[in-house]
Amino acid sequence: MTVVAIDGPSGSGKSTVAKALANQLGWAYLDTGAMYRAAAIWIDQAGALDQPDRMAALIEQMPLEISLDPVDQRFYLDGVDITDAIRTSATSRVVSKVATNIPSRHVLVAKQQQLAAANAASGIVVEGRDITTVVAPDAAVRILLTASPEARLRRRALEQHGQADSAAIAATTDEVIRRDRDDSTVAQFMDAPPGVTLLDTTDLSIEEAVAAALALVEQA
Ligand code: C5P
Repeated sequence: MTVVAIDGPSGSGKSTVAKALANQLGWAYLDTGAMYRAAAIWIDQAGALDQPDRMAALIEQMPLEISLDPVDQRFYLDGVDITDAIRTSATSRVVSKVATNIPSRHVLVAKQQQLAAANAASGIVVEGRDITTVVAPDAAVRILLTASPEARLRRRALEQHGQADSAAIAATTDEVIRRDRDDSTVAQFMDAPPGVTLLDTTDLSIEEAVAAALALVEQA
């Protein structure tokens, strides 16, 4: 199976690295965080964000289609393109409600495993929080990307506000620090378990981080 699994907290650079890696290899790419975001939108539409008992059954029925293109990954929910909607702060604020719901995780992990298996022959890079440990523990390459909290906040602030001054960093803190804390209660992505290579991107450019990940794939 040619699966590359990449985990990391928000702002670690995992999406950027995973996409560039898949693009350079000519492989498929799956952003599992976007699946949790899509599920949050679907559950919100059903008015069930505060009804944990209904979530998993709703996600079972979720009509989600994903293009696995690393250059332009798109998500369609019931035929509607939600690619932009999944990135909004409103979605970021509520996504952990779904991600910390264990039955919902089981449904999404099973969907992610199906997608990985269906694309393994031609190669796929799968990115998230529990890919190296739960979704694809047998992946050929398993990488945990990290970066200092300061670097992660700075990157997210730049991404979302176009600047990294103190106001932008304060506005981003909830999305990075609080979300990672909530997410850490259900997935282990701050320390690398045995067999998972830790790649600290704090002082690396995007190109350097991608080159380091590519070297790990070539070694395998
Ligand atoms: O990576 P991204 O920030 O888009 O992920 C959104 C949310 O999805 C995370 O904050 C986390 O709650 C959840 N997630 C997860 N397991 C994954 C990927 C994402 O719990 N494999």
